[in-house]
Parts: sequence; structure tokens; C-alpha cells
Amino acid sequence: MDKIKDLNDQESSRPFIGTTYSEAIFKNATHLVGFCFDGTTSYRPGARFGPDAIKDASFGLETYSPYLDRDIEDYNIIDTGNLPIYPSKWKITNDYFHANTKELDLKKDKIKFLVMGGEHSISYGPMRLALDNYEDMVLLHFDAHTDLRDGYLEEKYSHASIMRRMWDHMSDKNELIQYGVRSGTKEEFEFMKKHNTLYTSLDSLCDKIASIDAKRPIYMTLDLDFFDPAFMPGTGTPEAGGENFHSFIRIIKILKEKNFIGADIVELAPMIDSTGNSNAFASKIVRETLLAMQD
Ligand code: MN
Ligand code: MN
Repeated sequence: MDKIKDLNDQESSRPFIGTTYSEAIFKNATHLVGFCFDGTTSYRPGARFGPDAIKDASFGLETYSPYLDRDIEDYNIIDTGNLPIYPSKWKITNDYFHANTKELDLKKDKIKFLVMGGEHSISYGPMRLALDNYEDMVLLHFDAHTDLRDGYLEEKYSHASIMRRMWDHMSDKNELIQYGVRSGTKEEFEFMKKHNTLYTSLDSLCDKIASIDAKRPIYMTLDLDFFDPAFMPGTGTPEAGGENFHSFIRIIKILKEKNFIGADIVELAPMIDSTGNSNAFASKIVRETLLAMQD
């Protein structure tokens, strides 16, 4: 493979099953990156341990997905390890990611990222990177929460405001599609109504995604509290009334046929669920997403 540069100089835990471990960024490859930050968490912390838990739990999975009929081992998927961690300093790690990726030409060199959190504020870097490279990008936001506050608890880039921060950078060329949202302030729900971003049924969401032009770039930010706490109790801010694995598979099968250019998966807090079931669940979601992202 054609190496471009090193992203990282951290020692890593075991890489995700079926992937190749390297700290470098390559052309024609998908990169799995851990962003272990939970410093703006407002309720139950611990998402900083998410990436390693997902990688560990991947060893209970197969590399083959029967849903997508694809195998991790058949593609160039690089586990770059985790970014340097500054526990309460979001900006340092975000700036580090930005500094090391801003020169990349994702489209020309066919570089993709799937970044694992950490809490939802970490998605800002990878979402900005995708938007900088794909100006007509569609942004899919799957979450129990709107994350549209204009800052929270004196933090502008809080996990509770990160979609609002992205909205600041989006234009008429982009589209924000939100699904799974079942918690937010009245103002946030009015915001979604005004801008027509919220889909309230799986059928309408799937019809919408299916209608997107096959060439148009699509990015997915997935907060794992999108899923019902019955399936995903290991998350900082659980919210009853969520989705199940099969609705996700229905969505991801549509994305497989699209120009799926990047993703992040956030908010697994492994210590909250001592059974480890949440880790296994999240790990399977990461596998399906990595595979759907392949061309
Ligand atoms: Mn969120
Ligand atoms: Mn959430």
C-alpha cells in the first residue's frame, strides 16, 4: 500500500479483528482511529475507554458479515490505534487530528476514516475533515439526542452541542438528516422542525437515504445511545425508546450501495455495563459500518 504519512505515534492495544495495525495513513484505505476523550460528559463519564473495549470485543466476532456478504480481511482496513489523549482538553486532541489530516485529499487518494469515541464532541474533527473534502456532503446523525444546543455548561464544543457546531459550517449544498432523536429542549425540536432535519419513522428515513444520488458523499455520525438501553446500556446518557440492531442493518444495507465516505461511532462507556454486552454490540456495529464503507 501507498503510505502518505504517520498519523500517530501511540502504542496501541490489539487492533480490531481482521484489520492491519499501522500508525500511518495510506491511499486506498479505510482507517479506524480511536479518540479516547470524554471531558465534556455531563452525566456518566467513561466513553474514553470505548475504543479499546470495541477492539477487544471484536475478537468475539467473525471478520465476515452475513448481512453485507463482505469480509474485513478482503479490504485495506488500517487500525491506526488511538490518538494522543489529554483527558480534559478537547481542543488539543482535536487540533492534533486536524493538523495531521488537513493536507489530505480524501477524494483523490481514496482515504476514509471511521473514528471511534469517546463522547460525541470528538466527532467534530472527522465531520469537519469530511466536509472540507466533500462540499456537497449529506450528514446523517443517528442519536437519542438532538445535540443542537448552542453550547452547554459553558462549553461551546460540548457533546450536547456538537451538531449545532457542525450546522455552523453547513450550507445549502449540504443536508442534515437526523433520526432516532427522542430527547431535547423545545427550542431544539423547533430548530429541527424549522430546518426539516428530523425523520420520525424508519420507513421515511430509508426512503430518504435510498433517494440520495449514488455519487453524492454521505457521512454518518452515530451516537450509540441511538439504540435502546435494553441493547446498549453501556452509554453515558441512556434514553428509553430507542432503535434495535435490525433497524440499523436496514439502514446500513442502503448505505452500502451509496458513496459512504466516512463515519464516527461514539459514546460507548464500557464500565457502565459490566456484562460486556454493550461492547460486543458496539463492536458489531463498527464491523458492519467498516464493511458498508468499502467500495
Ligand atoms: Mn450525541
Ligand atoms: Mn446521545
